[in-house]
Amino acid sequence: MEKIKMTTPLVEMDGDEMTRVIWQMIKDELICPFVDLKTEYYDLGLEYRNKTNDQVTVDSAEATKKYGVAVKCATITPNAARMTEYNLKEMWKSPNGTIRAILDGTVFRAPILVKGIEPYVKNWVKPITIARHAYGDVYKGSEMKIPGPGKVELVYTAQDGTETRELVHDFKGSGIVQGMHNLTSSIESFARSCFNFAVDTKQDLWFATKDTISKKYDHTFKDIFQEIYDTEYKATFEELGLEYFYTLIDDAVARVIRSNGGYIWACKNYDGDVMSDMLATAYGSLSMMTSVLVSPKGVYEYEAAHGTVQRHYYKHLKGEETSTNSIATIFAWTGAMRKRGELDHLPELSAFADKLEKACIDTVESGKMTKDLALITTLKEVTPLNTEDFIKAVRETLEAAL
Ligand code: NAP
Ligand code: MG
Repeated sequence: MEKIKMTTPLVEMDGDEMTRVIWQMIKDELICPFVDLKTEYYDLGLEYRNKTNDQVTVDSAEATKKYGVAVKCATITPNAARMTEYNLKEMWKSPNGTIRAILDGTVFRAPILVKGIEPYVKNWVKPITIARHAYGDVYKGSEMKIPGPGKVELVYTAQDGTETRELVHDFKGSGIVQGMHNLTSSIESFARSCFNFAVDTKQDLWFATKDTISKKYDHTFKDIFQEIYDTEYKATFEELGLEYFYTLIDDAVARVIRSNGGYIWACKNYDGDVMSDMLATAYGSLSMMTSVLVSPKGVYEYEAAHGTVQRHYYKHLKGEETSTNSIATIFAWTGAMRKRGELDHLPELSAFADKLEKACIDTVESGKMTKDLALITTLKEVTPLNTEDFIKAVRETLEAAL
């Protein structure tokens, strides 16, 4: 069989620990035998980030802007323990944070559904994609403990020195206070990323806040979404038969539980933090979650939602057998290849991505799976496989299908 050709390279961001091991296996077994793979390679492994003073992360994000599509392996976000383990010059920032700051995007997370790994909510037959705003609110808040009686006010000092004040509370005793902010530009980017992704994936978009209580803060989110929808996306949504639906966050939660899935749920920063963990767990497993960063300019970075699976890596280093689930990382590659295929008009490349995804799902549904899934599956006949044998089993399924 002739290998599938590519025209534009994917930006390849290699990573750390067990996912770095899997990364190579996926390329060797599942991609390179079938695709004439073109990538521009950036080593985001912690060692090389440290060596380049993290310049490699910045370069990889710039390359993503240039080419439009990246695929990223999970990476270590350094903490005190990693400082010693890797003898780091500095406690480098999270690569995901750095990349997100450069691309200015929104992260979309969706579960991969397979028969035999059943969601806790029976009626969720289609995936629910969470879009979490990744800037501001309590994550950039400032807080104070109020020791005793006194007034707390919000003060805005304009550049000409004029002040606007708003009473927060006239304390009669001790208490606590919090100030937070967001930016019109960031909310606009968030909205555009969500509408673009909805159009791209042909799914309805839901958005919810607490605008009845927060008449200025949350209401601004609601207004910005509505304004951008009406002026920029309404026509396209109607053409595609899609719906933009706004409701209150508590009503949204009730509707989500009753729904069949199959839409995007845009959430403010905190709501997205909480709801994405709830959804990941309710759908079965973090190792079955895909994640894609979409910039408002239409640049895409695909990754797995889980980390570097450190515990498995240490076993692997000791020569012990591991059973690490590679599906989310494979789906990062297929997501990137499918998008590259769409942008470059290479239907064969997109079709290959579809077939590889189907091979993963068919392999699991035939009972061959890694331990994390074997523990929760409802299938009766199960063959638990180690890391490598699972990837080989997917290759067999794929070859049979090609
Ligand atoms: P983790 O790598 O997600 O793993 C936590 C646990 O979840 C694992 O020990 C394993 O449980 C299970 N697990 C996760 N992915 C799995 C998979 N593919 N197959 C099977 N089991 C899986 O989180 P962590 O151990 O807290 O973090 C490790 C490193 O990852 C940290 O340095 C962190 O900074 C980094 N991280 C990176 C990203 C990213 O780049 N996007 C995201 C999160 C964390 P068992 O041990 O019970 O088998
Ligand atoms: Mg969280």
